[in-house]
Amino acid sequence: MLDFMRPAPVKPDTPKSENAEFKAAEALAAKAMLLANTYQTPPVPKTYEVWYSYASGIPEAVARKINKILEKGGSLGTYELDQVHLEHLSATEQERRHQDAVSYHLDREMDEIAKLVQAHLSSSDSYSGSLTKMAGNLSANSSPSQVRSAIELLLRENARMRSETSALNECLTKSRAQVRRLRSSLEKSREKELRDPMTNLANRRFFETRLAQEVVEAEKSKAPMCLVLLDIDHFKVINDTHGHLVGDDVLRYFATILMANVKGRDLAARYGGEEFALILPARQADSARTLCKHIMHQLDKSRLVLSQGKKPIGKLTASFGVATFRAGDDPEQLLTRADEKLYEAKKSGRNRIVCDS
Ligand code: GH3
Ligand code: MG
Ligand code: MG
Repeated sequence: MLDFMRPAPVKPDTPKSENAEFKAAEALAAKAMLLANTYQTPPVPKTYEVWYSYASGIPEAVARKINKILEKGGSLGTYELDQVHLEHLSATEQERRHQDAVSYHLDREMDEIAKLVQAHLSSSDSYSGSLTKMAGNLSANSSPSQVRSAIELLLRENARMRSETSALNECLTKSRAQVRRLRSSLEKSREKELRDPMTNLANRRFFETRLAQEVVEAEKSKAPMCLVLLDIDHFKVINDTHGHLVGDDVLRYFATILMANVKGRDLAARYGGEEFALILPARQADSARTLCKHIMHQLDKSRLVLSQGKKPIGKLTASFGVATFRAGDDPEQLLTRADEKLYEAKKSGRNRIVCDS
């Protein structure tokens, strides 16, 4: 073994807390390796990170997602773990680092502005000090030469003040432009954090936040609201027949249909792999059903073909579970009902809409 790879011996004076932290991480690492072995997914960095995150329960969404796949008896290989990583770990981490960097620059810019304003205040203090002193030195008996030198001083001080103010203005204008650039970069990054990178729909996190808000709003306003969970039928066949890249294109295509059908406060989100969600505030069940029918109709009309060779991909269909908001519902209850209805739609033959009312 190379020297630098030999682990440093644990010093007897290592603090207890550090030791405990190390042991906890070691236990999680062992669990992650066991999981990688059980599911035969080579522990390369990404899959290892997903398993480690699953073992630690942080973020919670990773464990929830994997448990859901397992409950449904779906396959769980490197591809699925990569997807979990993409959805819950990679983008988030990158964006967070970017946001930290931008925040740091924003803080520095704010400090600069504060310093400039401080400098200007001291300089205007000294200006008004000079004026007061001069006023004290002048009286009705002052000689013309005393008055002249007072005026000269006044003009000098005035010129100094004007040049400092204009320098300050220039600095502030530059700072303002810089702050504007940084803020817009931060906003873009936050916006990116809420989008699913593949389909550009709202991601799971955005969806959960909005659902919680709309549930509160529906409760308060007594207005109707619907939640739809939709899942592409037999999507695995598309992947298996044409490959994952074609599968990805089909997901993007599906997303454009959803996007074209939502408006105003409606939200279309990618809920998971080939599962999507629609939050439809201020809509009764009938209106939600009509919208789902529209989507079904558009899917039915589309004839997807491979760009090379024009081989047909086959008809794309989806199943829909619609839950209507009931007073006292929390987001979880609404989701569970939509999920149950989606399950019924699948069980009863797919390519259909099942509503809870
Ligand atoms: P069902 O009608 O019961 O929904 O059948 P299904 O084949 O659509 O559902 P299943 O859960 O068996 O398989 C879904 C597949 O979707 C499994 C997974 O590999 C694939 N998948 C999930 N996310 C992505 C993705 O981002 N891109 C691609 N190409 N495939 C994905
Ligand atoms: Mg499916
Ligand atoms: Mg599914």
